[in-house]
Amino acid sequence: MGWLSTISPCLIDRLMDILFPPLCACCLAPIMPEEKESTGLCTGCLSKISPLTPHCCSVCGTPFHSSSGIDHVCGDCIKNPPEFTWLRSLFWYHGPIRDLVCDLKFRFKFHTLNAIGALTRKTVFLEEFNEALPQMTIVPIPVSRSRMQERGFNQALLMAREIFPGQTVSYNLLTRKREVRQQASLSLEERQKNVRGSFLARDGVRGRKILLFDDVFTTGSTIKEATRTLLAAGAVEVRALTFARTPKKEN
Ligand SMILES: [Zn+2]
Ligand SMILES: [Zn+2]
Repeated sequence: MGWLSTISPCLIDRLMDILFPPLCACCLAPIMPEEKESTGLCTGCLSKISPLTPHCCSVCGTPFHSSSGIDHVCGDCIKNPPEFTWLRSLFWYHGPIRDLVCDLKFRFKFHTLNAIGALTRKTVFLEEFNEALPQMTIVPIPVSRSRMQERGFNQALLMAREIFPGQTVSYNLLTRKREVRQQASLSLEERQKNVRGSFLARDGVRGRKILLFDDVFTTGSTIKEATRTLLAAGAVEVRALTFARTPKKEN
């Protein structure tokens, strides 16, 4: 072995940090090696991130304005109980969180995945179902065929693999049966109609406990339809987790 083998890997890391100073995954400002190890973000970006708190509906995860109890069910879930048993989102979709998701989805900056994984592992919600996780099959919300051709990847699948290392992430149990119109400009009712019947679940979901994963929660129409499809195909339970959540629009 050459002289290189006598240098400790730690020293090599230090040298690399001097030659190629680590940069914030979001704003590209230089960061300290400790920040690179922790989340890969600078303190400025970290301070602008708002994690969702446990003060939310214990079923659908809708955040409560007050810091009231963590075992409350919201009015919507009492009136129309959703078919999923549990839905949580980790961060508000704004500032650096939106930048990380958009950099991945639209600018193909795959290095953001490290920061997305590291930030997620620091949230309280993962602890909530850590024990149940090994029995669950993680299913990312699939993208349509045209989106797949245009983008070349499913961001929810890449994020799920980063967030749940060592866990089976199944990308073919749920697929898109048909194309759906762009959802962004649609009302809640139009979104529900738009996604109705758009998923197809494989026989392999029968008897499974599923954790659906998506990048951003907007109105929940997509997750509700995916849940309906999975339960109809024989899944025993569906929970859902999204990395980010848009603030609720008042209709
Ligand atoms: Zn930054
Ligand atoms: Zn609720």
